[in-house]
Amino acid sequence: MQLRTGRIGLGAYLARINRRDSARCDCDLGNQTVAHVLLECPLHIEERVRMRNALSGQGISFRRDDLLTRPEAREIVAGFMVETGILTQFLGTDTAALGMEAVEEKS
Ligand SMILES: [Zn+2]
Repeated sequence: MQLRTGRIGLGAYLARINRRDSARCDCDLGNQTVAHVLLECPLHIEERVRMRNALSGQGISFRRDDLLTRPEAREIVAGFMVETGILTQFLGTDTAALGMEAVEEKS
């Protein structure tokens, strides 16, 4: 349940534990939270298209709540995160945790 507490906020999280200089995403539109990367980051449009296609194949709509709460979406979302390359720091950890809810962090 790490994501539910907001402890895994990608850049935001890494900045907090001093493994990254800034919580800001490389696109500079917001902090690098799970929700930002999943739903809106312009740096990952191609990966997002593949994720949307995979989700619609499972009958899952591209809505934040569905992405973060439906068990069938978990593996697809985890695959997206791995594809973006953002989670290299977390490879070797339990990617199933990625299906959990994220907490948006305001900059
Ligand atoms: Zn971004």
